[in-house]
Amino acid sequence: MSFVVAIDGPAGTGKGTITKLIAQELKLVNIDTGAMYRCVTLQALKQGINTIEKKEELINIAKNIYIQLENYNGEQKILLNGEDVTSEIRSIEVSGFVSPVSSIPEIRELMVDLQRKMAEGKDVIMEGRDITTVVFPNANVKIYLDADVEERAKRRYKENIAKGMKETYEEILDKIKTRDYNDMHKEVGALKIAEDAIVIDTTKMSIEEVKNKVKDIILERWK
Ligand code: C5P
Repeated sequence: MSFVVAIDGPAGTGKGTITKLIAQELKLVNIDTGAMYRCVTLQALKQGINTIEKKEELINIAKNIYIQLENYNGEQKILLNGEDVTSEIRSIEVSGFVSPVSSIPEIRELMVDLQRKMAEGKDVIMEGRDITTVVFPNANVKIYLDADVEERAKRRYKENIAKGMKETYEEILDKIKTRDYNDMHKEVGALKIAEDAIVIDTTKMSIEEVKNKVKDIILERWK
């Protein structure tokens, strides 16, 4: 029997960071589903496809790529067709195109199948936008992380500065708002709060506080 922790929420709520920390501490397999949609998007951009008008080509890419989420000494690496793309999938170009790509229902179907297969027989913590609603509506733990959009943009701005990326706070805020809108208005797999999800507003919380709160909820259910 596997134990599934499902975490959803918009960009910049700390989902990725918190999920990684908890996965390490509780020995859960960490599945970053956003990274999978980012791989499809990166491969498309590499092949010169930057519009969803080319839907069939995009679906073909999703059908034919090989995505691996590997753990090396506690660090997660994302491999696309065997190549390490952990940093490349976070580029401005990929972030700007991933939401439209992931709005294609056929691509979602392929990724959701893969996500369920990756979790088979394992104890996992999986984060994304539709994990609590579509991928694992019967997950053992369902959490929705949220935060004010300005706070989320501030966090992303700080992260990007540290990585040497040159976007202004206003540009980031604008892009996050657009991505939120797209993510919440998808025909299939839209970001929404599952009825039975526990909602945590992280606006005024530190990473450590959110991590501990989520961990306590998991441990309570995992007894
Ligand atoms: O979580 P992250 O920001 O890396 O996700 C990138 C994008 O992938 C999201 O903005 C969303 O459009 C898409 N996504 C999705 N379903 C998921 C995870 C991510 O549509 N389960």
